[in-house]
Amino acid sequence: MLSEKARTFKKPVSDSEHKSHWKDWQWQVQHSIVDVKTLERMLEISLSEKEREEIQKTIHIFPMSITPYYLALIDNADPFHDPIFKQAVPSAGELIIENYDLHDPLSEELDSPCSLITHRYPDRILFLISNSCAMYCRHCTRKRKVGKISSMPSKDDFEKAFEYIENHPEIRDVLLSGGDPLMLPDSQLDMILSRLRRIPHIEIIRIGTRVPVVLPYRITDELVTVLKKHHPLWLNTHFNHPHEFTDASCEALSKLANGGIPLGNQSVLLAGVNDCPNIMRKLVHELVKNRVRPYYLFQCDLAEGLAHFRTPVGKGTEIIESLIGHTSGLAVPTYVIDAPGGGGKIPVMPHYLVSWSSNKVVLRNYEGMFSTYQEPDQYERPACDLQCGQCNLQHSGDSGYLMRRAHGIEALLSDYESEITILPADSERVARRQDGE
Ligand code: SF4
Repeated sequence: MLSEKARTFKKPVSDSEHKSHWKDWQWQVQHSIVDVKTLERMLEISLSEKEREEIQKTIHIFPMSITPYYLALIDNADPFHDPIFKQAVPSAGELIIENYDLHDPLSEELDSPCSLITHRYPDRILFLISNSCAMYCRHCTRKRKVGKISSMPSKDDFEKAFEYIENHPEIRDVLLSGGDPLMLPDSQLDMILSRLRRIPHIEIIRIGTRVPVVLPYRITDELVTVLKKHHPLWLNTHFNHPHEFTDASCEALSKLANGGIPLGNQSVLLAGVNDCPNIMRKLVHELVKNRVRPYYLFQCDLAEGLAHFRTPVGKGTEIIESLIGHTSGLAVPTYVIDAPGGGGKIPVMPHYLVSWSSNKVVLRNYEGMFSTYQEPDQYERPACDLQCGQCNLQHSGDSGYLMRRAHGIEALLSDYESEITILPADSERVARRQDGE
């Protein structure tokens, strides 16, 4: 964690104002820094005319809004190299659109049956309940929507989303995101969570939020009381750098954890911010110390204007290589690429299985030591015909959920599916076949 001195560096308000309002989250939002002049004044820096113009131009594409709290974490002696500054302050890099950049990099709109929902995976959905955030992260993958009045969810949008969830019993897990769900008032959140909880097939609710990082005072006792009513409820937050751990953010995490809310963290790998094994190790250690499980490390998406933040994939595997075995498994996130075109999260971890024969596998560990693992000579494989009720494993097949069929690669490996290949839908080779099969 940063030293107390660094953390309280240059409070961008007067002492009396600081004392009376600093911890009031609504005051923080109302006093967010949204223009260049105020940014310079609060940070006590002087930008060149060109820098000012670049920031101004970028603000027109994606708004700037920085809480005084988050701004106070910036080291103004060298702001352009500061990890907080880079995440919060617009840069000219955002104006560069590469030809492979995508407006909707994860094709969320394509998998959207109604305006607030993305239904990509079989048993879970993304429900975008807010379009505003406490701070507009410069690396945001939903820049196309977030902070735009046109994307404000209406009452009708909400009604259609609830109806969709109610009518799809296969949905057991709802991920609330946005924008930031915790920017909604407690009463509205309570209403949304209560309505979801009334749907019998919803088993868990998850919330994705950056509030503990950029506006930790939003985690009030009252908010925790609301969230606690709707267990099982999980919360994933988004710390990217060890400098984001302060007394206030640690207290926010502690309140949530004490409320019985399991906490996870999703970091994004960002060039010039956290693309370093040492920074990442410090980050994951801070997370677990604060009862937050590092969940995902995301490769930066192909969203428009993020080219300057992207690293090669090899940087991510190098970081994971520096964590696995070198620190507790609990502290190692899964490194994923959220595949463009809607392929979902695909793990891209280093390889540890080096080779194998019919009875042995060869593994390597984090030090470079090679070991063999002898596989069993006798293994009675439970051949599966999906008749769970008659299976020796005594896995009662009394519900459709237990009897689910295999999909994708899982189907190729299963005993009961007949497919032996998966081919692209528009395969020319298949089209040439006379019987069309
Ligand atoms: S909090 Fe999340 S949705 Fe909001 S700007 Fe940051 S990354 Fe985007």
